[in-house]
Amino acid sequence: MASIPQSGRKVRSKKAGSAASSLALKFERLGLRTAADFIVHLPLRYEDETRVTPIAQASVGAHVVLEGEIIRSEMQLRPRRQLHVELQDDSGKIDLRWLHVYPGQLGRVPVGRRIRARGEVRSRFHGMELIHPLLSEPGTELPSTLTPVYPSTDGLSQASLRKAINEALAQSDLSDTLPEAIRAEYQLAPLEPAIRTLHHPPADVSLSQLNTHTHPAWQRIKFDELLAQQLSLAQARAARLAQRAHPLPGQGNLVQALRASLPFTLTPAQQHVIAQISADLGHNYPMLRLLQGDVGSGKTIVAAFAAAQAISSGAQVAIMVPTEILAGQHYQKLLALLEPLGVQSAWLTGSLNTSERRAAMAAISEGSAQLVIGTQALIQEKTQFHRLGLVILDEQHRFGVGQRLALNRKGELTTDVLPHQLSMSATPIPRTLAMTFFADMDVSIIDSLPPGRLPILTKLFADIRRDEVLAQISIQVRSGRQAYWVCPLVEESETLQLQTAVDTYERLSALLADLRVGLMHGRLPAQEKAATMQAFHAGDIDLLVSTTVIEVGVDVPNATLMVIEHAERFGLAQLHQLRGRVGRGTHESACVLLYQPPLSGIARDRLRAMYETQDGFEIARRDLLQRGPGELLGLRQSGQVPLRFAQWESDELLITQAKAAAQRLSIEFPEHARAHRQRWMQERAEYLRG
Ligand code: ADP
Ligand code: MG
Repeated sequence: MASIPQSGRKVRSKKAGSAASSLALKFERLGLRTAADFIVHLPLRYEDETRVTPIAQASVGAHVVLEGEIIRSEMQLRPRRQLHVELQDDSGKIDLRWLHVYPGQLGRVPVGRRIRARGEVRSRFHGMELIHPLLSEPGTELPSTLTPVYPSTDGLSQASLRKAINEALAQSDLSDTLPEAIRAEYQLAPLEPAIRTLHHPPADVSLSQLNTHTHPAWQRIKFDELLAQQLSLAQARAARLAQRAHPLPGQGNLVQALRASLPFTLTPAQQHVIAQISADLGHNYPMLRLLQGDVGSGKTIVAAFAAAQAISSGAQVAIMVPTEILAGQHYQKLLALLEPLGVQSAWLTGSLNTSERRAAMAAISEGSAQLVIGTQALIQEKTQFHRLGLVILDEQHRFGVGQRLALNRKGELTTDVLPHQLSMSATPIPRTLAMTFFADMDVSIIDSLPPGRLPILTKLFADIRRDEVLAQISIQVRSGRQAYWVCPLVEESETLQLQTAVDTYERLSALLADLRVGLMHGRLPAQEKAATMQAFHAGDIDLLVSTTVIEVGVDVPNATLMVIEHAERFGLAQLHQLRGRVGRGTHESACVLLYQPPLSGIARDRLRAMYETQDGFEIARRDLLQRGPGELLGLRQSGQVPLRFAQWESDELLITQAKAAAQRLSIEFPEHARAHRQRWMQERAEYLRG
């Protein structure tokens, strides 16, 4: 019955060539290039077209196949032009409607003709209807499997997708990359039937298992994906262990001298991670270690120990930080610790004047600067190191993979081997996430804060209560403490944000006339920034009004009050970092989150999370729920391959299994391991961390 309209849409005729290339473009948009891509383009859901439903049993929302006789067929002109057909079977009647009509269509659905109609049932004023149903000959054979509905893109029909995927399935080698022994150990379904089941499930399959991705076929795919990821990470790790670095076991007594000069005792957690790093530095392959510790847990001193050991072994050390303010602060702190012990250092940021820069560059390239602290200026082309053996990245989540590698390369250039690398971050990574994304790195955790820290009191104030906040600032300052006032994020424009900071500074200076108020923002000249931070460190500024430039790393233990204006505009991780600027000494601290009602649901959740917990892990967990791991960890710019099928939150068992299986496969079945990685990673593998 070729005369039956297959769809209400008009099909414009196109030149075959351009149609094919535009189809390819659409596939491309979905990331579908090779047959392998098509094979793992898996359905979002399924429609059941395996049986004919009696009209009376069709329920709203269901996708049904109906068969019956046309008992009415008319072209309506009002309220709009539409084709209206009524279909009847032994059990009842239903409307079929086409809102786009083309010439001759009416003639193809004459009263009295029997047809089959497929589509989604919608409720109508009286009864139910199908809009733009697909029509075909009644009585022909029905499919024996469920019909897949694939993720698609504008203008790409399910029919084209199904056709391309079926072709790929027919042509491709779906041989199993897992040996029987591994399949048996983890009770995994064989690959080919699993893939075929996911594309064309038999009619009696458990739809709920399919939809929740718990069906054995889904488990197999997720396992394979995780296994490929683990294999790649293991390969990256093996490649690193095969590379050479100069061992820096430490010589003389610089490290002991540093330990003896500390004004405090290291916590057991700090001692533990210092020992781990010390052992790593002694190896002749490069360390790649991530040091995690909540805000204020004392990571800087750990970096100082690593630097001291490397320097005493004759290496140069570079510490790269994301902001100039932090570079200045680290420089002073580390200088205070290490200079008395004879260590020479230099600092390098984008805003040094010409003669300062020249002097710094010379000290760095001649090697008279043993410790170099700086911003991204460290990786610019002109910067040449002398014997760079250890690179440290503070707040590593703020750097992209390219920047990290660029600093490594500086080391390689000067020593012919890779430098050791220590990354530090306050962003805690849940265990399963660490296993899936950072498995090639070693991870150290500082899991406790230095003793004597008091919990930070967090208060939520609607903006109209800012007078109370001002009073609180005065009280704190009168008892010798200091405060921060962080101005709102203005997403649209940096200039506006700056203006807000300047305005706030002027207003607060006037309102709190007896206080010494300072202003900090990213556009201040470097000298002014440094001078202001120094004055705040020295206690010569009572209240520091600032943009978010002080978000990370700033450490002024005497500051006990943090006010964040328009807190509802900030992300959770950012609020946690900002709050972490206080509570660093032994005085009781508070963080006031000023917000502008009414709050959106998400903003309310965020502020509530801040109020309810101070635990960085818990904050990170909630942040992940709200935003996903990409943004939290800077994964988006890290070049990591995201997971498509498995989920690190809910597939913990599979992740653990895949990790174990990856080890076994690499040792016992290296050919399978290679084939598996190749099938899954293809060209993506090169983006993995090197
Ligand atoms: P973060 O982990 O956020 O980088 P910092 O390294 O800035 O933390 O340390 C926070 C503060 O804690 C600093 O003032 C530092 O001097 C202090 N500190 C670090 N370790 C200890 C310790 N073991 N005992 C007491 N204070 C410490
Ligand atoms: Mg820090």
